[in-house]
Amino acid sequence: MNRYLQQLIEVAEIDKKIDSFEPRIVEAKFEVNQMIKQKDKLANEITLLEDDHKEVSLKISKNETHLAELNKKLEDIARKWKMVKTEKENKALSLEEEILKEQVTFANEEIERLSKNRNAKEEEIASRQDEIESLNTREQELRVSVQGVLDEIYKQREEILHTKIELTKNMDPKITHFYEKIRKWARNTSVVPIYKHACGGCFIRLNDKLYIDISKSEDIITCPHCGRILYVDENAPVQEKETKSKTKKEKEPKAQEPALEAVE
Ligand SMILES: [Zn+2]
Repeated sequence: MNRYLQQLIEVAEIDKKIDSFEPRIVEAKFEVNQMIKQKDKLANEITLLEDDHKEVSLKISKNETHLAELNKKLEDIARKWKMVKTEKENKALSLEEEILKEQVTFANEEIERLSKNRNAKEEEIASRQDEIESLNTREQELRVSVQGVLDEIYKQREEILHTKIELTKNMDPKITHFYEKIRKWARNTSVVPIYKHACGGCFIRLNDKLYIDISKSEDIITCPHCGRILYVDENAPVQEKETKSKTKKEKEPKAQEPALEAVE
């Protein structure tokens, strides 16, 4: 096989391996990221609950002020009772006292209701804080094990990158440049084996002449349909080599058939 083609196949394999590390890194970090998201969600909920809590507390203190005022008025009425002389004054004061007492009852009920509400908010906040705490503990444990996995992945990737550097050192820069240009759009399918007589990248069937040329592995040949670099994988299943003889089914000979008949 052409030495340059052999190098290209190797470097393309290495690039594929290097790229395969990315999803592994994402996967390793996934659970930690999920935990961070969960904690953010809980923290946001706590902020909203704290706002509600402040609002309820404000309402309670307003009711308490109102209640103090009502009690003061009731004390005034208690003093006024000593000065009541007529039946009319008696009635008016009784009515006033009754209304105030109703207002006191209402204010007390309101304070009780609001206090229950505030306690519920406090419980909700506390339970979310507990959840965050336990997530923090689990996250720390997870981070330690994830770091171990990541370190191993980074180490392997570093080794492979080193292999690539060593390999490309000995390559013709023109060829590596040519390959990198294809790789920009074809990524990990820049150098592909022929599969069932077709380009392994775009899967369009190749004509016989091209197939034979590629089989010889003497040159770097690109797919005429997509531009990827093609080669015949010597380790491919037998079927691939067998197809070499099955030329009748190919497109190109069909197109040429009328011309051949004319010659005959
Ligand atoms: Zn192709």
